Amino acid sequence: MQAKRILRQAPLRFSPYAWAKLLYMRDLGSTEVGAFGVSKVIEEIVLVRQHCSELTVKFEDSAVADYFDDQVDQGRSPEVFARIWVHTHPGSSAFPSSTDEETFERCFGTADWAVMFILARGGNTYARLRLSGGPGVELVLPVEVDFRLPFPAAAPLAWEAEYQTKVIHHEAPAPVPRPNRLSSNSAREELLLLDPFQGIGLHPLRQSNYDPWF
Ligand SMILES: [Zn+2]
Repeated sequence: MQAKRILRQAPLRFSPYAWAKLLYMRDLGSTEVGAFGVSKVIEEIVLVRQHCSELTVKFEDSAVADYFDDQVDQGRSPEVFARIWVHTHPGSSAFPSSTDEETFERCFGTADWAVMFILARGGNTYARLRLSGGPGVELVLPVEVDFRLPFPAAAPLAWEAEYQTKVIHHEAPAPVPRPNRLSSNSAREELLLLDPFQGIGLHPLRQSNYDPWF
């Protein structure tokens, strides 16, 4: 109980710079946008090359590898740059979709801790911490922007350039799956093998995992 109380008192914190950049990215296009949050108090939002629709974000596998290499070259450890998964929702709900839950489990489930953070248009937020040690703990966190630390000025030109080079728009996947593909065992096996961080993967089963909150 004490550990839970301590964790509740520790919100997910953004620097004003990172928060402003994330809002800017959210509102540049009509799709979701994904990023990594850097450091425990999030001071930077880093986009990697990604394929986005209004319902999905998929990072390119090679782009994630390059991002990891760059961060390690800058002397950072995975605890600092690879634990906080950030993405936006173009709708008003920040509640995670089933695809979000699957991605969080598949790509961050082996980390000792990880955070899924969602920012919706209109300002709703959702942050959840997962601790993998022992029985495992999942906690919904409050979110704060911390103005006490020094922070750099907004850089909209650089942010837009980053967005334009990293975000590839796609039409939203159709919410109704095709029944003939749904019943196929091979299609199910294909889904199990699918890495949500690789390619655009508009798989018929994935199409059924659209966010019902939009
Ligand atoms: Zn989502």
